[in-house]
Amino acid sequence: MVQQTAIAPESAQAEFRAELIDAGVLVATSVDGLYQRSATFESVVRGLERRISAEGGGRYEPLLYFPPVLPREVFIRSDYLRSFPDLTGSVDTFVGDDRDHADLLRALDNGEDWTQHLVPAEVMLCSAACHPLYPSLTGTLPAGGRQMEVQGFCFRHEPSVDPARMQVFRQHEFVAVGDPEHCIAHRDEWLERALEILSGLGLPVSKVVANDPFFGRAGRMLAANQRETTLKYEIVCPITSVESPTAITSGNYHIDHFGNPFAIRTTDGQTAHSACIGFGMERITLALLKTHGLDPHAWPSAVRAQLEI
Ligand SMILES: [Zn+2]
Repeated sequence: MVQQTAIAPESAQAEFRAELIDAGVLVATSVDGLYQRSATFESVVRGLERRISAEGGGRYEPLLYFPPVLPREVFIRSDYLRSFPDLTGSVDTFVGDDRDHADLLRALDNGEDWTQHLVPAEVMLCSAACHPLYPSLTGTLPAGGRQMEVQGFCFRHEPSVDPARMQVFRQHEFVAVGDPEHCIAHRDEWLERALEILSGLGLPVSKVVANDPFFGRAGRMLAANQRETTLKYEIVCPITSVESPTAITSGNYHIDHFGNPFAIRTTDGQTAHSACIGFGMERITLALLKTHGLDPHAWPSAVRAQLEI
């Protein structure tokens, strides 16, 4: 611990990344933040999924797994582009004729920018696991709102040597949609439940108010105007730095950020609010590997039992 705090954060990040790759837990690619996962890594992710999902206790609609892309128009309505344009991932494809294809190949062979010959597809990469959910909720919710469980791959373009800052990762979420009290209670209850789950796995976690609300600049202004409403909390855990622990789970109250663009209403005709708790599956796995060691079969038996490893 003491030795770790003496290392500059980026060195500590690169060092842990090298340990993970040397041990074969992750396989590096030519791009920072993009990794192939070993069966060892995946066994922890799947154990975590079972452990977290069991905590839902049947109070949620059946778990949905989302693909890593979502319709472009849904992405636009999520407003992510307005807040985090630098993190987005657009999907391009080729729609030209044979002559256009020849032009593309000529550019490729000449080392020119062949991507100029592509056009945007009708899909984008997902930024958050709950975004694909909201269009299915358009209309009037049942009394008491809805509670859902989802998991999906997310993409954020932020290349880094920090193994905890992957460009592609999974979030496992519990989402509530309904009136404000329902949503805030959902988030706050899940933050406490998440602290119990994660500390029960031996992780030295704590809850903090997050500096960057879920929906960026507009959210920061809103938060400043409504000081009584904290929108985002994070559960943090040291991975490569004790002073700057990593957020491994977040609890977000979105107000009507999704209810409004997706026309979701409560039974009394109000725009629905929403909230989600998002477990960062890769980050929790890395926190476990850092805390208990790179071989899950050597972890404390109580931890292995909970994850069925
Ligand atoms: Zn979410």
